[in-house]
Amino acid sequence: MGVRKPAIEDLLGTAHVVSLGLTTPFRGLTHREAVIFEGPSAPAEWSPFLEYDDGEASTWLSSALEQGWGEPGISRQLPTDIHVNGTIPAIPADLVAPLIEKAGSPRTIKVKVAGPGTTLAADIERVEAVRGALGPAGRIRLDANGAWNLDEAEHAVREMEHLDLEYIEQPVESLAEMAEIRRRLSRLGIQVAADESIRRFADLDQVIESDACDLVVLKVQPLGGLGATLSLMSTARQAGLGVVISSALDTSVGLYQAGLIQAHLEATTEDWKDAGLGTMSFLAHDVVRAPHLARGGLLTLAEPVLDHGALESHQASPERTQWWHERLRRCFALLES
Ligand SMILES: [Mg+2]
Repeated sequence: MGVRKPAIEDLLGTAHVVSLGLTTPFRGLTHREAVIFEGPSAPAEWSPFLEYDDGEASTWLSSALEQGWGEPGISRQLPTDIHVNGTIPAIPADLVAPLIEKAGSPRTIKVKVAGPGTTLAADIERVEAVRGALGPAGRIRLDANGAWNLDEAEHAVREMEHLDLEYIEQPVESLAEMAEIRRRLSRLGIQVAADESIRRFADLDQVIESDACDLVVLKVQPLGGLGATLSLMSTARQAGLGVVISSALDTSVGLYQAGLIQAHLEATTEDWKDAGLGTMSFLAHDVVRAPHLARGGLLTLAEPVLDHGALESHQASPERTQWWHERLRRCFALLES
């Protein structure tokens, strides 16, 4: 996957810094900031979260350079409809059924549990409401974002075991705890997925070595692009791990890149899982003409065409734009060294 690396001035010249409203606050934020490049190959997205350091953010930049300045990483002869899960945030149980209906009743739902703002009792009620809305055939996966300790995780899962869970994403934080909870839950036949455990390209080997999970959640931007993600995916599958492709709360530009990997998985493997790419509904605005919005658990992929009106109307403030330009210079310099 060759990348004709641009000069920093070219990069800056083609960068649009945008601030998009969120429909549900996320990590305490009400807006998602992103840099959208008009690359010679394709539009490209660079949107590392604000608190990430330059080292991590520069890996995300490799992904943007590959997307905007590289050659297509995957043959475009792929299915255009991919399968994604719906998401139920930590909301009261009585709001669950209308939200699932609004999303077109996807067959797979990811439910946020644990963490601040919820209790075990509320988690159980929420997951029960999801099972009620989906019926017996639907799939339910939980995501605890590492917020439980070992005993809390085991207790919570035992309390919800009867609801037929597909897997639990990052029930606990550390790799050692992940390995232990995996041992405990395997007796119940419930799988564990690692998400936060795989923050950077190198972490997968440790995750595999620790026997910390049955599945890995892979996100294209944080891993440095399509090429890096494809290579990690093959390492994970060779180690006997399942793979779930997920978003980093990207705009439709980044979602397209991740969607290509899911399409590739669906076309080339038998045991793929629904992806966590139905996240455009969390953004109130988008930067492309045809947003990658999921409906009924299906997402139609189309090469992104930038909406210049939207890029302009959601332009970040001069201060934030300046902040991103400086971050871009620093991260680009890290890639050079
Ligand atoms: Mg997660």
